[in-house]
Amino acid sequence: MSAEETLAQIAKEVSTCQKCALHRSRKLAVPGEGPVNSEVMFIGEGPGFHENEQGRPFVGAAGNLLNELLAQAGMTRPEIWIGNVVKCHPPGNRDPLPEELSACNEYLERQIAAIDPRIIITLGRISMGKYMPGAKISSVHGQMRRVGARYVIAMFHPAAALHNAALKPPIQKDFAQLPKLLEQARTSLKRLAPTAADAPQEDPKQLSLF
Ligand code: URA
Ligand code: SF4
Repeated sequence: MSAEETLAQIAKEVSTCQKCALHRSRKLAVPGEGPVNSEVMFIGEGPGFHENEQGRPFVGAAGNLLNELLAQAGMTRPEIWIGNVVKCHPPGNRDPLPEELSACNEYLERQIAAIDPRIIITLGRISMGKYMPGAKISSVHGQMRRVGARYVIAMFHPAAALHNAALKPPIQKDFAQLPKLLEQARTSLKRLAPTAADAPQEDPKQLSLF
């Protein structure tokens, strides 16, 4: 199966998945979207109201701010992959529960393996927890960390910046740094592994921290 077929297959499985209680509050599952060869994957928390209606990630107010932030980094939505740690809308936008995160983690892991991005950007505290358990987002945001064969950057969630105007300057600063960090990641990963096929495999323990 090609990586593209794998992503389509995951989207199909997610659309009828009943592995956790969140399937009861979904209208449409939101598998995530973006090109299979994306260098950067953005991972948010879970579908909100509009995402649940449309089956697409980050299409509401937080998505509009994200589009603005991407433009500051010289990036556009069609060139990045974007999705969430849970694919179904948590009722009332509550935080996903640990058992929901672990039930849904398998899909995200398969998506990451198929896309094989250089950088994963976590948006908000919940998806940060997958790679940096126990970290404080206010201390680690914007810093690029090596995780296995790729890099992870934790960022504030754009919805947090909509609720708290004080977070907007730091989130803008972090996005403005992205081109520089991406260049660093390209150079460093090239030196380490000339082709994706030669890349060291990620430690599976590090991949399932939920
Ligand atoms: N917030 C998220 O975390 N994900 C979305 O898809 C939309 C809003
Ligand atoms: Fe399945 Fe994930 Fe939806 Fe839970 S949130 S029902 S695990 S797709």
